[in-house]
Amino acid sequence: MNVARTYGNVVRRQIADKPKTASAMIRTGLYLESFRCAHFAEKKMPKAYRFLNSKAVGVVADALSHPETYAWTNIFAPTELLQTFGLSCVSVECLASYLSGFWLEDYFIDRAEDVGISSTLCSYHKNFIGAVESGVLPLPRLGVTTSVTCDGNIGTFRYMEQRFGVKNFILDIPQNWSPEAERYVVEQLRSLIQVLENATGRKYSEDALRETIHRENESKAHFSSALKKRISHSYPNTMTLVLFLLLATHLNIGSQWVLDFFRMLDEEIGTYPPDTGKRLFWVHTTPYSQPTLQSYLNYNDKCSIVCDDFNLDYMEEMDETHPLEALARKMICNIYNGSFERKAQACVKYAKEYQCDAAVEFCHWGCKQSAGGAILLKEEMRKAGIPMLILHGDSVDRRNNHDGQIRTRFEAFLEMLNRGQEATE
Ligand code: SF4
Repeated sequence: MNVARTYGNVVRRQIADKPKTASAMIRTGLYLESFRCAHFAEKKMPKAYRFLNSKAVGVVADALSHPETYAWTNIFAPTELLQTFGLSCVSVECLASYLSGFWLEDYFIDRAEDVGISSTLCSYHKNFIGAVESGVLPLPRLGVTTSVTCDGNIGTFRYMEQRFGVKNFILDIPQNWSPEAERYVVEQLRSLIQVLENATGRKYSEDALRETIHRENESKAHFSSALKKRISHSYPNTMTLVLFLLLATHLNIGSQWVLDFFRMLDEEIGTYPPDTGKRLFWVHTTPYSQPTLQSYLNYNDKCSIVCDDFNLDYMEEMDETHPLEALARKMICNIYNGSFERKAQACVKYAKEYQCDAAVEFCHWGCKQSAGGAILLKEEMRKAGIPMLILHGDSVDRRNNHDGQIRTRFEAFLEMLNRGQEATE
């Protein structure tokens, strides 16, 4: 029996008439899952990932239980700053993924389309909008997003402001770094600070932000060290864990629990046996519920995701003595900002650095930047001698994936890798 699906069906029956009950059941389900991960996780799951799994689910359950202290963001938002005001950051993509974990995405996506949202919009956004429209997701204190890469975020945040009165703050991020560009973003951060002070009644503390960035630097140093060890050691994971990692590398980066997690990861990886399987560099979202990819990638010592572009989108050390400038620089120099070339070069660099045998890009439904850049990235990988597979599907909506097609293409790609041939489309 699929427990999440069965529980999701019970929740589904409440949504139309009792959305608050459905919402409470979702929070309860998340708390139960957090407890299960902490105490009864799969034996194959490494200790650090058990901790991550439990925390990643628990912090979202807490945020939904205390909407007065939660904020909607995207993953590129300056979450470090929001944390210093006592706000928990939860992204649209994160909420959509969790709702899909309860097998409810079809209900919410249909609901969004029923109220007039285009079917071609990214299904993370449709799922999120449908859940808010249904009254299942509580409204937050405010929304904070950026202009970086995603063409869906700004529209969704504006829609939420117009339709539900959720105040939002949009950071306009220039494409390239320059002293003027940095000052322009810092000015916007200063305006955001005023908004946050008014929204929370707290005063901005530069010391608190410095300490947050200090923990962020330490966390990333441990992450880099762990990835170096991952070159010669296996470390079992799943596509879901790659997604949960985003809660550590982005939404909660700079918090004490994230630093604890990266320390644990760094200590543990070296205790695992050598990696003898095919090592993949993943690009863009992981479709964690896709059956074929689950069977090939989850806890499989013959083939695994070593690292991915989202979790490595900014790995530079930040200047904690100038925290606002450091945040501005981080957003401007993110590999997802600016021309696609920047991201392509970073992906090639990481794939080489962490000795990946191949790259796979999953082009998620409705994501223009992903589909638009895939061929360019593949060409850069080809020049570097790294075979790359492009898959098309939907990381959220189970109805929108074609398992047969994904199976045929993924198996053929693996076979070519195993034979040591150059993989082609
Ligand atoms: S998948 Fe693409 S369109 Fe959807 S939220 Fe992510 S970046 Fe935006």
